[in-house]
Amino acid sequence: MRALIIGAGLGGLACAIACRQQGIDVIILERSPEVRELLEVGSQVQHVDFRRYKDGRLLRSMPFGDDITQEFGAPWILIHRVDYHRILLDEAIHLGAVLVLGAEVEIVSVEPPEVILADGTKLSADILIGADGQWSTVRNAVLRTPISPVETGDLAYRATFTREQLESLGDDKVNELIQKVAVTSWLGPEKHTIFYPVRGGQEFNLVLLRPDNLAAETRRVEGDVEEMQQSYADWDETLLKLISCVPTVYKWKLTSLPELETWTKGAVALLGDACHPTLPYQAQGAAMAVEDGAVIGKLLGSLQNQNSGNDSSLVASVLNLYEQIRKAQTTRNVRGAVMNRKLFHIDDGILQIIRDFALGYAGVTRKSDWTWYSSFRQRQTLGVDVLDNCEKAFEAWEVSFMQQKKTQ
Ligand SMILES: Cc1cc2nc3c(=O)[nH]c(=O)nc-3n(C[C@H](O)[C@H](O)[C@H](O)COP(=O)(O)OP(=O)(O)OC[C@H]3O[C@@H](n4cnc5c(N)ncnc54)[C@H](O)[C@@H]3O)c2cc1C
Repeated sequence: MRALIIGAGLGGLACAIACRQQGIDVIILERSPEVRELLEVGSQVQHVDFRRYKDGRLLRSMPFGDDITQEFGAPWILIHRVDYHRILLDEAIHLGAVLVLGAEVEIVSVEPPEVILADGTKLSADILIGADGQWSTVRNAVLRTPISPVETGDLAYRATFTREQLESLGDDKVNELIQKVAVTSWLGPEKHTIFYPVRGGQEFNLVLLRPDNLAAETRRVEGDVEEMQQSYADWDETLLKLISCVPTVYKWKLTSLPELETWTKGAVALLGDACHPTLPYQAQGAAMAVEDGAVIGKLLGSLQNQNSGNDSSLVASVLNLYEQIRKAQTTRNVRGAVMNRKLFHIDDGILQIIRDFALGYAGVTRKSDWTWYSSFRQRQTLGVDVLDNCEKAFEAWEVSFMQQKKTQ
């Protein structure tokens, strides 16, 4: 089998790795002309701390370290997305995937599965995977009525600092913050912020979420640092100290899609942000894209091993199975992020007091959660063996397929 993957983002690369592990030929078409990323390492997060926006009072410090590994079988790693991307890219190339840069897909056809690039080159394959992100071109070929992302009403400011920049502030509370391998989140009315180390604690990311004031057609611009500072003027001093040393900031419009009626058509399938973009309020967008890619590769490999050749109706049926396996999980996840938005952005008042009280007893693992609710949600997200489920679903599909064949 030969797969064309459109998009070399995290989901597309994970899919390339999973397909190559199964011996499927892979070409990845990526519109960007170059890959400009550096490799560093991730860190195992020890705590997630929730703080009150006004005074920085600690509402809850959730243990994340070894408890997470014990309950879910793997550590929770904080990693810069470009480092993660580089790791996946190296592995995909090492396994023999072919990456074509500067290859902008303009036209996608389902029957037969083929694409035409901006320079007129035509390429065909047995399978097309649309891993081309939220503004997907492939999606238009899959859906009967093409749709575009819609505004969520929020935007994100994103800034990065070096450890030296933060140390030079000479502030005790900032120094305390950067000693921990922790995610710190300040919760306030209509807004929240997240601060965490990347690159082994040599750099730090700050993401500030607030109501969107970008023009409708703007996706990402360099932000106005002063405007950002004013947006958080009455917030905790420690956060303001961090904000004071932001040299440049990017402003991203956060968009999403309504739930799609289908992710597949014939031998064409969508994955990741192309079919289920999410508000980043559960930190699961990349994880979902990578899991989608792993499931597609696993299922196509199982089909290939079944020696059924590359009959296009079987490929279509297996891609349909991929959608069935993944949809409930990703839909729950996307809705969970919308729910987090409501919980994080509660106005000051009785509901916020109740939220803060309940949060004080919440945790991620059974051991750390006294409210049961938060760990229940995490088990739905983290406690699922995606590949094991995929094997079982393929076996069931195979049985029903053989029965159908016998009755024909
Ligand atoms: C502010 C913010 C914070 C986030 N934080 C987190 C987090 O903490 N944890 C997390 O898991 N997720 C997070 N996410 C979400 C995560 O980044 C995405 O969900 C994930 O990157 C989606 O991967 P993807 O491969 O589906 O798409 P993308 O990463 O968008 O990749 C799509 C690729 O396709 C290429 N492409 C597009 N069109 C074409 C075309 N026509 N031809 C060829 N190539 C094309 C693009 O150049 C790109 O390389 C965050 C997102 C935002 C905005």
